[in-house]
Amino acid sequence: MAQEDVFKKLVAHCKEYGFVFQSSEIYDGLGAVYDYGQYGVELKNNIKKYWWDSMVLLHENVVGIDTSIFMHPAVWKASGHVDAFNDPLIDNKDSKKRYRADVLIEELMAKYDAKADKEVEKAAKRFGENFDEALFRQTNPRVLENLNKKEEIHARFVKALNNNDLDELKQIIVDNEVVCPVSGTKNWTDVRQFNLMFSTEMGSTADGALKIYLRPETAQGIFVNFLNVQKTGRMKIPFGIAQIGKAFRNEIVARQFIFRMREFEQMEMQFFVAPGEELQWFEKWKETRMKWHRALGMGDSKYRFHDHDKLAHYANAATDIEFEMPFGFKEVEGIHSRTNFDLSQHQQHSGKRITYFDAEKNESYVPYVVETSIGIDRMFLSIMAAAYHEEEVEAKEGAKEMRVVLKLPPVLAPVKLAVLPLVKKDGLPELARSIIDTLKFDFNCQYDEKDSIGKRYRRQDAIGTPFCVTVDHQSVHDNSVTIRYRDTMEQERVNISALQRIIAEKVSMRELFKKTM
Ligand code: ATP
Repeated sequence: MAQEDVFKKLVAHCKEYGFVFQSSEIYDGLGAVYDYGQYGVELKNNIKKYWWDSMVLLHENVVGIDTSIFMHPAVWKASGHVDAFNDPLIDNKDSKKRYRADVLIEELMAKYDAKADKEVEKAAKRFGENFDEALFRQTNPRVLENLNKKEEIHARFVKALNNNDLDELKQIIVDNEVVCPVSGTKNWTDVRQFNLMFSTEMGSTADGALKIYLRPETAQGIFVNFLNVQKTGRMKIPFGIAQIGKAFRNEIVARQFIFRMREFEQMEMQFFVAPGEELQWFEKWKETRMKWHRALGMGDSKYRFHDHDKLAHYANAATDIEFEMPFGFKEVEGIHSRTNFDLSQHQQHSGKRITYFDAEKNESYVPYVVETSIGIDRMFLSIMAAAYHEEEVEAKEGAKEMRVVLKLPPVLAPVKLAVLPLVKKDGLPELARSIIDTLKFDFNCQYDEKDSIGKRYRRQDAIGTPFCVTVDHQSVHDNSVTIRYRDTMEQERVNISALQRIIAEKVSMRELFKKTM
């Protein structure tokens, strides 16, 4: 199936099965704003728990906080967001559609990469086992032509970004004959900067209302609380402060479902270190965060690092962890070495001293910062994309049918087990309910007695429930039930008393954490 179709199906599935809804749908929706449904919120909460506990429980020197969305406007002046939190936008004059110029160019480069990959794929098929991919990539003229073209664009792109040269960004688009996907024309406006922050007013106008911003990142709440946490927690450098919370950005282009939203949620951790030690910690956190992602078992090849083409003015190293979404490798998490920029700026703008006395070094300094910043919604999308499978399975009398199954990591699945009485009589519903009454303290359980057992299995497959427990007539006599495993569809007869242990083993965060170490 084409990846575009997979993505469409995934979006439809998210809605049909109560994971994600368009916000204000009955009023035709609000652009790039989404609500999480009954299963979506469970999956999201499980992702948050996985992140929070891996930061705060597993690291003695990381603590969490929860700061407000509204902050003093001076915060955003100091952080540079008022003056420079911009995206370069370009409009197509015919379709009136707006695009990010940098994204158009990135997509253009990805096309040349894809063309080169296609040549390699074709050759691999032709040559079979004897195929030497590395040699082919170095010597095949068509591969080289595409890669050189990409490199040429890349060099111009990086230079334009670093020089803030908006005319050159437009020129790259013009020279490469990029067309608008809607109108199909090359009729572009100039590139302009667009500030992404939402603002509102606090207080009545009689008092002189204050223009305030909805935070575009959670990090600043951490920076302005650096001294509070360090002092009250008696924290010693190196240490980290973690936070989960909403962030808001008036994104120019927001067409990829929950990948790019105007209201989204971040999980950020700022790690404060001594000056000069930041690059070492940057490497350490890169490795730690990659392990955290890979521990979920969705396939190591689905992740890669992508170093930033342009470093933000405050950063001395930055990389993204990208995940292979149905629409290509895309950023899920950023890891940035932010130097002492933020704390220094707040020190200067607030007039308050923000330093740390390092007893070991016997000196005071403004700490350096390594940040890990992940979007929950993008993480959610990556997990759903990797989990979504359509499989042909045996139906009655040798016929085939399609099953849609979400192969979610069991530990993150919204519902851990469904308990299904084979029939609605003979004491089976009562026994099923009694199983739930014992297990509901440990796991999110669901009871379902409607329709055939096959249909009930399919419903659970579609929401990613890893275990279905079926109660039949034998169960009433000998306390045994069948447990069906989602991915293999195998069934096993076990005693009711064994269920807790079997399920706990497979959905244990503890086991997952071991893989992240
Ligand atoms: P992009 O280049 O895709 O706009 P970014 O580099 O601006 O992203 P950061 O500022 O590094 O993103 O934000 C950290 C994380 O927050 C990102 O890795 C992403 O997971 C998430 N994020 C940022 N913007 C959005 C958004 N509009 N919708 C959903 N998640 C987002």
